[in-house]
Amino acid sequence: MQKRIAEIREKIKESNWDALLVMRPENRYFLSGFTGTSAALFIDLKRALLLTDFRYQEQAQQESPDYEIVLVNGSMFGKIAEIARQNQTVTLACEGDFLTYQQFLNLKNKLGEIVLSPQYGLIESQRLVKDEVEIQNLRKAVDLADNAYKDILNFIKVGKSEKEISLELEFLMRRAGAEKPAFTIIVASGQRSSLPHGVASEKKIQVGDLVTMDFGAVYKGYHSDITRTVVMGTPSEKQLEIYHIVLEAQKAALAAVRAGIRAGEVDRAARDVIESYGYGKYFGHSTGHGLGLDIHENPRLAINNETILKRGMVVTVEPGIYLPGWGGIRIEDSVVVEEDGCSILTNSPKEKLLEL
Ligand code: ZN
Ligand code: ZN
Repeated sequence: MQKRIAEIREKIKESNWDALLVMRPENRYFLSGFTGTSAALFIDLKRALLLTDFRYQEQAQQESPDYEIVLVNGSMFGKIAEIARQNQTVTLACEGDFLTYQQFLNLKNKLGEIVLSPQYGLIESQRLVKDEVEIQNLRKAVDLADNAYKDILNFIKVGKSEKEISLELEFLMRRAGAEKPAFTIIVASGQRSSLPHGVASEKKIQVGDLVTMDFGAVYKGYHSDITRTVVMGTPSEKQLEIYHIVLEAQKAALAAVRAGIRAGEVDRAARDVIESYGYGKYFGHSTGHGLGLDIHENPRLAINNETILKRGMVVTVEPGIYLPGWGGIRIEDSVVVEEDGCSILTNSPKEKLLEL
């Protein structure tokens, strides 16, 4: 935490403001370790304060030893203004992409002559490259999803509904130690599998269906994200054809991931394969996204994204082909960017279209 606070102080020195207010839960957790739902961090060059109310006072003391804990009795924004005045803050930066307009006006009003300056993506960019502990947490989150996938294969049967499968996946992950699912679990079968984000429905699994499952676990705040597609019974020629194109595209993208490459080039690698087989227009989303305290964070592996990948970034690689009225296939792994390639965190098998 000290290192992260020091980095923020460097940013404060470089900028034209004196202090930073952090309220977005993921950013607050990243900078302090505090997991409660109500608090604000006030960081300037001298002090690091965590403001919270009675409910979280003890928890904050335990979770955030690098901060002075300030008890808020009445208005949070009133207290922030009081502290800013005490610390002779001239300009206070806030998260412009988190505060609502009403909160911004309310805080600005309380601050009076102190300037409230919105900044964008400051802490999010600090979160781009993961440290060892973060990678361990992500690895654990991926393991939880991998293990649930292994177990769900025995559970999926013709006649079970998509919702039953999603509920079982959630149960398996939570029983094994996940805090919660990383997002609303996607189980899309048969024709519904052409919906890239088809949340599990009452539809029952039928013979011949493709079943696409996209899910993940949260561990210590960190998210995993995996997609596998299986088939119920013997696959058709077309199902095999599409599966192998998606797999080839996914491997091409994985082979492209390394430090120094543009994010867009990874997308290009997957898209080139799918386009070469004539299915380009059926791959309507980007190839992947960053993964961390948010399920979708930067860098986005999208065609025009100019971000240069760095060692320690964690991204998903997840091309897919979706044919309306027929179905869809997606394969998604999570990887850590390395100097000369990537380490694939996901271990679930994908080499062939699994027949259940
Ligand atoms: Zn996913
Ligand atoms: Zn994803």
